Amino acid sequence: MPAAILPALTSAPISVSVLTNGEPNQHTYSSLQFTTTSYPSNCLHFLRPEQKIAEPTRLLDSVQAKCKLKVVIVGAGLGGLATAIALRLKGHDVTVFEQAPQLLEIGAGIQIPPNSGKLLKRMGIMKHLENQTVQPERISFRRWQCGKLIGITEFSPEFTAQFEAPYYVVHRAHLHSAFFERATELGIKTRLNSRVATYNEDKATVTLADGSLIQGDLIVAADGIKSLARGLVSPGVHSVPKYTNFAVYRSVVDVEKIKAIPEIAWILEKPGLNIWVGENRHVMTYTIAAGQSFNMVLSHLDTSDPSTWGKLDVLSGMRKAFEGWDPHLTTIIGLIEETVKWPLMDLGALDNWIGPASKLIVVGDAAHAMVPYMSQGAAMAVEDAVGLAVCLNRIQSAQELKFALRVFQSERIKRTAPMQEASLINAMLFHFKDGKEQEARDAAMRAEVEGKHYLSTPNQWSDPVTQWWAYGYDAEAAMEARWDSAVHHLMVENWKSIA
Ligand SMILES: Cc1cc2nc3c(=O)[nH]c(=O)nc-3n(C[C@H](O)[C@H](O)[C@H](O)COP(=O)(O)OP(=O)(O)OC[C@H]3O[C@@H](n4cnc5c(N)ncnc54)[C@H](O)[C@@H]3O)c2cc1C
Repeated sequence: MPAAILPALTSAPISVSVLTNGEPNQHTYSSLQFTTTSYPSNCLHFLRPEQKIAEPTRLLDSVQAKCKLKVVIVGAGLGGLATAIALRLKGHDVTVFEQAPQLLEIGAGIQIPPNSGKLLKRMGIMKHLENQTVQPERISFRRWQCGKLIGITEFSPEFTAQFEAPYYVVHRAHLHSAFFERATELGIKTRLNSRVATYNEDKATVTLADGSLIQGDLIVAADGIKSLARGLVSPGVHSVPKYTNFAVYRSVVDVEKIKAIPEIAWILEKPGLNIWVGENRHVMTYTIAAGQSFNMVLSHLDTSDPSTWGKLDVLSGMRKAFEGWDPHLTTIIGLIEETVKWPLMDLGALDNWIGPASKLIVVGDAAHAMVPYMSQGAAMAVEDAVGLAVCLNRIQSAQELKFALRVFQSERIKRTAPMQEASLINAMLFHFKDGKEQEARDAAMRAEVEGKHYLSTPNQWSDPVTQWWAYGYDAEAAMEARWDSAVHHLMVENWKSIA
């Protein structure tokens, strides 16, 4: 038996878990009886075929939806466009309505972790980003005061192979343009200057600010953290995002200016993310635009009311907030000519994303806004998009939407609520003041710096269990599995009621 199975291992992924005819066979436990586990384990990963990096597989090749829906998407941010692309790939008729007169992304850099990158490749988006991404070699955690290395995540070839895509960083404008180009290529209509003023959830219609009435079979609201639709699916104070008392300065520095100063030029020698962490503050940096710009996000405690923030003195406020930090870092901060101060809002996990008539659903930041400390907000929106496409592909008629949306929601809440939590946990881990906890954290990360083996680490990019949960997740496969188990459950329940 193994001889017959082994050639297959080099060509196709294995989906069966027990290769028996149902009878435990004591004599064959030494053969390839198991190829996957039903519990979290990597013990059989060596049996997987040599990874090709995120070939455009299922989403592009698979069967088109049997029930073609007219889908109205509200918001042309990364979440709205990703949803439009994923649904269009399955044959749905999709139109996107965006309030802004032109497409813009605020801020400069964005990280594309592999759980998102593998989906972007399948959706045909990565080809629109050619020559615009940077593949960092590692993340270096540094002590606030002196820049001493305290933790390292290596983005090795094994990392890329295990998670089926590299870890990318990119300019937001490039990423957004790539989404828009792909959407246009697929024939998706995006209507700018089209603010949705009201939702008529029970009729699957929206009314635009100019009074036009738009009819669909399903409304997908990807209308961001200030979502209007969220109040309809999950009314109450818990669905109002709250200011976290943390704000970020978002900036870019011209790499030529950094190169001109020998003491700091080292930061550009290899593509990498550098993150300085200290009490109630941290600074995340990396190059974007194929290495042409240096992106900086400076996070800090600010308990003042964001509505009182003016545009004046933002630069001096930023410099003051990081006075006394590593001189290499403050030299780079000194090169920043412009910055935007941005309040970080948090939304607790919602328990419902679906309107009462099952004709409206919220996705992206509208459903699960999170602080950016896991770099996973947009990645979750991309996963939502793919998950929704999987569920809508399985229904035979619009009457089954209620079931499909509930299956979608259950898998997505199970995924996004812990990601919101992981993001908040990073806020705690990054921001310890000097003292007991900070020393214990750094001691627990020391093995990373010393190149020693470790089983756990407070660095969530490196912690083996967190890594597999965050980056090993395949939103398409997970939703297919969730669908199958929901249908199985339904059949069993139905059988009980008629038996
Ligand atoms: C500092 C910072 C760093 C981040 N870094 C990362 C990172 O590295 N990796 C990552 O994956 N994520 C990151 N994120 C999170 C990521 O930016 C967001 O999760 C993502 O952009 C959300 O996309 P969205 O489409 O859901 O919402 P949005 O981008 O907010 O888009 C919503 C769109 O809907 C439109 N809209 C709203 N209301 C209406 C209406 N009534 N009618 C019509 N249109 C409407 C808006 O104009 C907007 O275009 C970061 C966030 C921040 C703040």
